[in-house]
Amino acid sequence: MENIEAKNNPYYSRTDTTKLDISNEEWKKILAPDLYMISREAATERPFTGKYNEFDEVGEYYCAVCGNHLFRSTSKFTSSCGWPSFFEADKEGVYYKRDFAYGMDRIEVLCKRCDSHLGHVFEDGPKPTGLRYCMNSISLEFVSDLPK
Ligand SMILES: [Zn+2]
Repeated sequence: MENIEAKNNPYYSRTDTTKLDISNEEWKKILAPDLYMISREAATERPFTGKYNEFDEVGEYYCAVCGNHLFRSTSKFTSSCGWPSFFEADKEGVYYKRDFAYGMDRIEVLCKRCDSHLGHVFEDGPKPTGLRYCMNSISLEFVSDLPK
């Protein structure tokens, strides 16, 4: 599963953790329009449409914008919300912001390396954390543990 967009993205790296400070103007030239809308303008993909919603392969999830490590498949769980859900994120991978958009009080989850919007986290997840990271599939890139 290759990320086609990443080929034209000079900032994408799974090993470089240097913080990025790229303007949305620049990202708009690099990212596919749907990824740009979600990651840079905090849009949300339609539920039950994402490629990782019903997906249970073993591997790692990276930021589709910059390649930063975000989740391990062992923290993914089956949720009925319509988006891929995880109970734990890579602490080095994400940070949080309070989000009052659309008249709701939610916690936004963002990529620590490139500041892209990933989704939201809610306190109705399973044990051991009780958290549900509700993510946009398009913001994630999955890399399987299995050899190609
Ligand atoms: Zn990122």
